[in-house]
Amino acid sequence: MEAIQKQENRYRILVAEDSPTQRQIIMSVLHREGYKVILAKDGIEAVSRAFDESPDLMVLDIEMPRMNGYQVCRLIKDDRRTAHIPVVMLTSRSQETDKFWGLKTGADRYVTKDFKLTGLATSIHEMLEQNGITAGSSKPDIRAGNLMKQEDTDVLSRVNELLDRKLYEATIINEISKLNTLSEDCAVTVSSVLTVIAKVSECYVSSVFLIDELELIIHVENPVGNDYFELSRMHAFEAAMEYLHKGTTLNQVKMTIDADPVFLKGEHPECDALRSTLSIPLQARGKTIAVLTINSPRSDAFSEDIQRVLEIVEHPASVVVDNARLHEGTKRLAITDGLTRLFNHRHFYELLEQEFMRSRRYKTNLSMIMIDIDFFKHINDTYGHQVGDDILKEMAIVIQRQIRDIDILARYGGEEFAVLLPQTAVDQAKPVAERIRQSVESNEFVTPEGKIRMTVSLGIAAYPECGVDNQTELVQMADAAMYEAKTAGKNRIVTGGANDAI
Ligand code: GH3
Ligand code: MG
Ligand code: MG
Repeated sequence: MEAIQKQENRYRILVAEDSPTQRQIIMSVLHREGYKVILAKDGIEAVSRAFDESPDLMVLDIEMPRMNGYQVCRLIKDDRRTAHIPVVMLTSRSQETDKFWGLKTGADRYVTKDFKLTGLATSIHEMLEQNGITAGSSKPDIRAGNLMKQEDTDVLSRVNELLDRKLYEATIINEISKLNTLSEDCAVTVSSVLTVIAKVSECYVSSVFLIDELELIIHVENPVGNDYFELSRMHAFEAAMEYLHKGTTLNQVKMTIDADPVFLKGEHPECDALRSTLSIPLQARGKTIAVLTINSPRSDAFSEDIQRVLEIVEHPASVVVDNARLHEGTKRLAITDGLTRLFNHRHFYELLEQEFMRSRRYKTNLSMIMIDIDFFKHINDTYGHQVGDDILKEMAIVIQRQIRDIDILARYGGEEFAVLLPQTAVDQAKPVAERIRQSVESNEFVTPEGKIRMTVSLGIAAYPECGVDNQTELVQMADAAMYEAKTAGKNRIVTGGANDAI
């Protein structure tokens, strides 16, 4: 009785080795250690025995007929029922490529075959201990009539299934990775990533919340109606909340939606509620850069298979999203002024050139207002440069509030700003300039020594009314008009060219 008990409680080691001599050597080493050995003569037999007998550990030769050790290892590690079994790879060669593939396929150890297989017993012992495996704990799956033929087909269909899945996964990864070079525009790239994710996850709405940019990019895959869309937006925001500054509200978030407008209209009975939602943080360079959220009106929409696909997608998606935002960030940095966040001088000239060409071609008006702060040197001298900087920042905001979205505001120089007003005649530009002048005059600028008042002088020039012929003349005229305003006493507006000052 005791002998049987002992037999039952021995570790069961599956050994796959095609050479009879090697098998003998391995067997004797393992028997000496008191292990029970299950033998397989090739890879296919090894896989079917692993499933049938649930060994405590597997020792795999690499080169074997029908199926090699790597393939066996991949199959074993890919199946939930056998993934936990520690695998030791055995090879006669000590090549780095063997180690590489052994580890890639999920092998736990790598032992070089030498004359006496000295390393094997120690490795097995250590691994059983490390994995906390107790002898006799795994239960063999007893199946009746284990015909070899049936086992072969079983193993082969498993191989096929695995290959199929790996191909599918590789295709998705490839689909996402190739979006890396898709577009200059971050939102366009991100929304293409979301489209791929929507297709593979069968979700209705997918989104990426960019943490630093405070921007939510939403892709709508199916018609969902407005209520469902609003719920999706809320869920995406809530999922990102833990990474945002406290007190951030949904109103502060910039939103980009890529949806056919009809997708957001009408009643969609199947979208009466949002029943499944899944969010994963996208990480790059050690921090969370974005949160991906997918959702569906169906309950249990995201099966284990879909969750697995998302795990696979997570890395390439993070890389693409991170590159897209960094690229856009660099681009933004190159065209904006660091202090005021307005367009810089150089970019102003690029936009001016485009706008001038457009006006000439379509025979539309183009006005420009040059703005210079009065007595600004005095501010620096009295309150210091830092306060001067703060006033410049606030000035940018005060001016911005008075212009339309299509108008272009730039920091033209130190304490000079320029506004381009497309499709605006000189008579329409004058009231804009006056609004700017008044809003500056009435604004209370904050300094550590209390609130102060500021004024600006403005010069207007317009194409074609003021007789300018090109963009350089437009700027020169606006500049000259502004200087006239200075000499005339500051805090006023002068219009260049044929027009009278107001
Ligand atoms: P005016 O009324 O004739 O326009 O006189 P002003 O003092 O405003 O003009 P001036 O051209 O004599 O001086 C401009 C001042 O703006 C000088 C410079 O120190 C200051 N300035 C330019 N750029 C910056 C900046 O980025 N920050 C700060 N704090 N000051 C700046
Ligand atoms: Mg000035
Ligand atoms: Mg100046």
